[in-house]
Amino acid sequence: MTRTIGVLAMEHIAVGLVDDHQLVGATHIFPDKHSEFDCLSEMPAEEIAQGMAREIAACGGQEVGAIGVGFPGVIKGGIVEESPNLQQMKGQNLAAMLGALLRAADINAPVHVLNDADAVAAGVAATLGHLDHFIRVWTLGSGVGFGRYPQAEGVWEGGHSVVSLDPKEGFCNCGGTGHLEGVMGHRAMRRRFLDLEPEEVFAHARTGDERCVQFVKYWHRALAAATATSIHMDGPGKFFITGPSARYIQVGVLDQYLHEMVKMSPLQGSQLEVVATSDETAIIGAALSATHAAESAG
Ligand SMILES: [Zn+2]
Repeated sequence: MTRTIGVLAMEHIAVGLVDDHQLVGATHIFPDKHSEFDCLSEMPAEEIAQGMAREIAACGGQEVGAIGVGFPGVIKGGIVEESPNLQQMKGQNLAAMLGALLRAADINAPVHVLNDADAVAAGVAATLGHLDHFIRVWTLGSGVGFGRYPQAEGVWEGGHSVVSLDPKEGFCNCGGTGHLEGVMGHRAMRRRFLDLEPEEVFAHARTGDERCVQFVKYWHRALAAATATSIHMDGPGKFFITGPSARYIQVGVLDQYLHEMVKMSPLQGSQLEVVATSDETAIIGAALSATHAAESAG
């Protein structure tokens, strides 16, 4: 049984059937794709799990070997230990909840829950030919995710890296001060600029509005800082940047700031690349991770 199902819960829930790192048939989206940001934040936990179960069944879940679910937050043993952007899921045993709903629908494949950004990283590795390399991925959306492939034991909440010592930097959804997500997250930008939408901030910066120009520099500097921290902890390498807000990234600017922040010669040589990813990327990654998990469980 080589087919798997991948599920992504990020800005919405997307479910797809995967065979050999490729999507088979259409992606099922829940709720309807009317809003790019935040449509899950008000939905009760049970409804999220029920929506997933329904779409998994609709995708042909009866015939798969494993089901992988990419979910935002700190995930351990199927439990959502923390999820700053989907607070209602905190403490929920998503793997157990979803597994019970699926068994009621005669779907008995094992459910593997992993961090959504790790699912994106696995999907990027699978679709862009990096399955034999160590890669890291920043996902820029409502929140900021950090994923790595291959996955490694640990927490890896890189989106909450501290990038500012200013005690007034309090826009992160987790409540922490000075975090990367508090600068770069879509929600955090809306809270910072109460009079402008994030897309207007970037548009105004292009026309020379000084407040927006300064912020856009700061926004890039924040990602350079978090990337530099990752390099100082884990070595240089390939970093992919993706997600809805990745369209605002100026790679040259980011690269310049990163060079100012990483000076030790063995740590040089990282590459930054903006890649367009879709739900499909994370679905493929979640499915791949579920296959690995099922194999290692024997
Ligand atoms: Zn935070």
